[in-house]
Amino acid sequence: MKRLQISWPEQGTFEAFLSQQGSANPGEKTWVCAQCGTILPCEIRPGVYLRRPCTCERQQREKQEMQTIRQQIQAEQRAHTFAWIGQAWIEPHLERLTFASFDRGRQSKAFEQAQAFARLPQGTLALTGNYGTGKTHLLVAIANARRELNLPCLYVSAITFFEAIQERIHQDREYQPLLHMAAKTPLLLLDDLDKPKPSEFRESVYYFLFNQRSQAGLPLAFTCNSDPQSLDRWIGGAARSRIMQGLTPVLMHGHDLRVQKRGV
Ligand SMILES: [Zn+2]
Repeated sequence: MKRLQISWPEQGTFEAFLSQQGSANPGEKTWVCAQCGTILPCEIRPGVYLRRPCTCERQQREKQEMQTIRQQIQAEQRAHTFAWIGQAWIEPHLERLTFASFDRGRQSKAFEQAQAFARLPQGTLALTGNYGTGKTHLLVAIANARRELNLPCLYVSAITFFEAIQERIHQDREYQPLLHMAAKTPLLLLDDLDKPKPSEFRESVYYFLFNQRSQAGLPLAFTCNSDPQSLDRWIGGAARSRIMQGLTPVLMHGHDLRVQKRGV
């Protein structure tokens, strides 16, 4: 069958497309789908016919587009969970801290509680205990489990969080966007809550975060060395009262050498 001849001096993309795909013969662009039956062509301009996709082809195309979007979201989200604070602060080893890579025999109760929280985060999960008991590993495992499910959450260590804020202040950049991201994320995972040295500024930041999140009913998980009841020194009484709402304390007793030294 004769192809369409376009003789205009300047052919745009669309004209090139028509010259390749179009036909002056509607029969040439009529086809039969096993499911939809006969598919009549589309007369895109008088005397020029294009093959029309059928319903199943359109659905297939939509499915592929959705798949691509889902993959893009997933890739962005995966990067976002640990990189939201800034590329300079990324710790690549965090991706490897999963439930699968955790020695669950060491902390079986805490393991189960962290897994249950990862499945359905509600209220506040506090992983407490001494250094070297696997608190950070479990907290990061929650983040990785959520990432696997394509669900948004943000992880940061309190030290890094305040260093990033400090850096922005020194560079004369706004640090409030970081606070708002941490306040609004569907799940915030904060490591070593009681590690940064207490200060009025830090206390006010903690209050802002925990108050915003508790008002919005957004879950939080954190690790700390102190008993959650005695966190006032680091986060202030008002912030502590916010995180006590719906608190699930998970005590992780450890065999870290430092524990024995402190006991002497
Ligand atoms: Zn079809």
